[in-house]
Amino acid sequence: MSSSPLEDIRARIAGAAEAAGREPGDVTLVAVSKQQPWDKIAPVLDAGQRVFGENRVQEAMARWAETRDRIELRLIGPLQSNKAKDAVTFFDVIETLDREKLARALAEEMARQGRTPRLYVQVNTGEEPQKAGVIPPDADAFIALVRATYGFEIEGLMCIPPEAEPPGPHFALLAKIAARNGIAKLSMGMSADFETAIRFGATSVRVGSALFGQR
Ligand SMILES: *Cc1c(COP(=O)(O)O)cnc(C)c1O
Repeated sequence: MSSSPLEDIRARIAGAAEAAGREPGDVTLVAVSKQQPWDKIAPVLDAGQRVFGENRVQEAMARWAETRDRIELRLIGPLQSNKAKDAVTFFDVIETLDREKLARALAEEMARQGRTPRLYVQVNTGEEPQKAGVIPPDADAFIALVRATYGFEIEGLMCIPPEAEPPGPHFALLAKIAARNGIAKLSMGMSADFETAIRFGATSVRVGSALFGQR
């Protein structure tokens, strides 16, 4: 009997959760549809997947214009302040808050539009210069700042570990930063390492190529 990639990923999520003594339902699959043709996405949507991740605002708006109200959409790529308006309009969740200028732009747009997308702070756990995210030594202060200055409720933390390193220590570090800041949700783990991320407490995993094929 053949199973679809979606069924296979769901089963692996459930298996990893159970192995970690967690409820499979506590881990959300975010299907990363960036750069994928619609004929790859449609079957996954039809099979009942409802949470999707995109890394570019304009690309997401084009792809999801007609089906937007059927899904929860998460922004998982770096966000420029001048795109804050469209991001607040179009996304349910913004996972890449990482600097005060962006926080200010989002706060202004949220007030103007009367919309409150759920927010995650991205942490650059590997302190890689080319990568977005607040570095770990600055994370507590940044979270405190956006809570106090903009009244943001930070739903979770997000990270993308360095490609050349074992991801476990990065996932553990993100979980530790979340715990000491009273943050419950952890967006971590991609196609290559989502089972490891679940073992370290991921509450959502962002899976693209393992679900849709290579981009
Ligand atoms: C592209 C992307 C993913 C998905 O990566 P895969 O390896 O294809 O699963 C996850 N998270 C972020 C932030 C991405 O940009």
